[in-house]
Amino acid sequence: MDEVLATILRRDPEQREFHQAVGELLATIRPVLDRHPEYRRHAVVERLVEPERMIMFRVPWMDDQGAIHVNRGYRVEMNSAIGPYKGGLRFHPSVNLSIIKFLAFEQVFKNSLTTLAMGGAKGGADFDPKGRSDAEIMRFCQAFMAELFRHIGEDTDVPAGDIGVGAREIGYLFGMYKKLQNKFTGVLTGKGLAWGGSLIRPEATGYGVVYFTAAMLAHRGETLAGKRCLVSGSGNVAQFVAEKIVQMGGTVLSLSDSSGHIYDEEGIDASKLEFIKTLKNIHRGRIGEYSERYPHALYVAANPTLGWNPLWRYPADCALPAATQNELNLADAQHLAAAGVRLVCEGANMPSTPEAIAFFRDQGILFGPAKAANAGGVAVSGLEMAQDAMRISWSREEVEGRLRAIMHTIHRTCLEAAAAYGLEGDYLAGANIAGFVKVADAMLDQGLV
Ligand code: GLU
Repeated sequence: MDEVLATILRRDPEQREFHQAVGELLATIRPVLDRHPEYRRHAVVERLVEPERMIMFRVPWMDDQGAIHVNRGYRVEMNSAIGPYKGGLRFHPSVNLSIIKFLAFEQVFKNSLTTLAMGGAKGGADFDPKGRSDAEIMRFCQAFMAELFRHIGEDTDVPAGDIGVGAREIGYLFGMYKKLQNKFTGVLTGKGLAWGGSLIRPEATGYGVVYFTAAMLAHRGETLAGKRCLVSGSGNVAQFVAEKIVQMGGTVLSLSDSSGHIYDEEGIDASKLEFIKTLKNIHRGRIGEYSERYPHALYVAANPTLGWNPLWRYPADCALPAATQNELNLADAQHLAAAGVRLVCEGANMPSTPEAIAFFRDQGILFGPAKAANAGGVAVSGLEMAQDAMRISWSREEVEGRLRAIMHTIHRTCLEAAAAYGLEGDYLAGANIAGFVKVADAMLDQGLV
């Protein structure tokens, strides 16, 4: 296994995030490889860390002033052992091959945990949607799909949203795919309700994170009611994390975006959340506007030179990082512990650094890893694919009931997989082991392909 890490470091020395994601998985599956020598014999790990296919392409587009821009597009098809490639698209200036590979790698094991038949992939572009007009977003999406369309399909690879790609972008991407292929299929998830989308898909990732959090608490005889929660981010995941916490009787103290964070001691209730949804999803404004509307709330501008995030210093019971990768480092973890936080559940993909995770585990702070806790989004994408295939749509109750059941199953699976290796209560090890074993066994069954 050290050899596997050494190989990827040598091959792609600059892919830091990818090394981090692989390193975290390998550190926890060692006992599985020791108990099952067939995985080593068949080089399962060596095969898992090399994407089945990587597509990189030019995305040329014209802005409203007539100037031409060129971005780089990606689709990394990591593993298709248990189903068609599945995973979101991210439009953000930080996107590069390392980021997309780490996300695709995580997606393989996350999708495996959902109980549904989906392989793992991720894609996107280093495009910055901030400040772009609707027409510019549409032209970018069309240019992106003008290449991606030949690589995807409802039984091949089914993209969805991620950071910077929401309902609007999925609409433009879908329209272009349909035009180029002359086919109306469920090739993307996160679609509009009138054209093949699923109820609860927008809410699914955030709701799922909170169901997972509630299951972790319930396992210890506790509930979310009365718990004070720090939440970061204010996009799709964070908005619905906050909504479900409030519905379950908890208090949401904070939210953030790249410009800073807000802290509302009285709690961000349902009506304040509506303000944030309109601000973010319709006006595409900055989080600081919250404290203009609610002057008792604190707004603190981001200060990257600090090296830690002041959002994680307020007294609370639970922390749910739901912004982006590596947003929570060792100093933040120490601040959280000092502030009384006893549970951390990840909404974003890989938000905690390895040092932060090691600290949580040392301190006995309950830790819900992203690939289990935030699997609800892609799980409902799987349910959207099922509804598309049957050409029917389920009610809110039907989809939310299935989502809740899936999150409870994932929670139980993590505990059982950990216990099978004497690692009682270790959700991180349990998620990695259970996610890995299903994919590894499928790869053995299917031979060397
Ligand atoms: N981008 C989401 C994730 O990180 C959802 C992917 C999907 O629905 O395919 O899991």
